[in-house]
Amino acid sequence: MSPDLEAVLALQAEDTIVAQLNEKMRALDSQLVALDAERRHLEESLARAKSTAEQEEKKRRELSIKVEDHKAMQERNLATLDVVRKPKEATAAMAQVDMLKKVLSEEETDLHSLSLRVHDVHQAIDGQQKLLGELDARQMEQREAHAKERAVIQKDLDAALAIRMERATHVSKGILLKYERILSRNTSHVLYALRGQACGRCDTAIPMQRRNAIAAGRAIDVCEACGVLLYATG
Ligand SMILES: [Zn+2]
Repeated sequence: MSPDLEAVLALQAEDTIVAQLNEKMRALDSQLVALDAERRHLEESLARAKSTAEQEEKKRRELSIKVEDHKAMQERNLATLDVVRKPKEATAAMAQVDMLKKVLSEEETDLHSLSLRVHDVHQAIDGQQKLLGELDARQMEQREAHAKERAVIQKDLDAALAIRMERATHVSKGILLKYERILSRNTSHVLYALRGQACGRCDTAIPMQRRNAIAAGRAIDVCEACGVLLYATG
């Protein structure tokens, strides 16, 4: 085996480890994304409940001011009723009193149901806040475990990258350039051994002349069909 081939195979072996560690990291971080999504979901639902509570409270406040106004108005109406003497005026004043009495009764019914709604929404908010607290307690453990696991992988990754960098210095420039270019296309595996007369990856037949050069260890060639680097074993 040519020293060039040996060096680039050693590099690929370490890059395989780097790729595995990166994959492990991605899988781990996707767990964190899931934790964040779970928390956000609950937070959004809590925010909606709070906004509903605010709206209902505002309605209740406005309605209770209206009720107070109408009560004051009714007192004036009753006072008028007390002082009118003419039957016609008394009838009119009585009609006013009756009308407002009906309005007040409806408003008080509405006020009561608004109060119930406000109470219910606040109960829902309390429940959701409790859930959020429980979720945070549970997630704190998960997040701590995640951070620990991540630190371990990061340490391994740093070590693997250092080895990888060192190994790359042993690969000749031309081959390294090709190798890096193929690697950057997101293939974790760059070098493939010839399988018989064909590319070990895509099985496309390699012309004899090039195959001979590869087999003789004179070249690490590119497969024209799938773009990986080809070498001969033995
Ligand atoms: Zn191929």
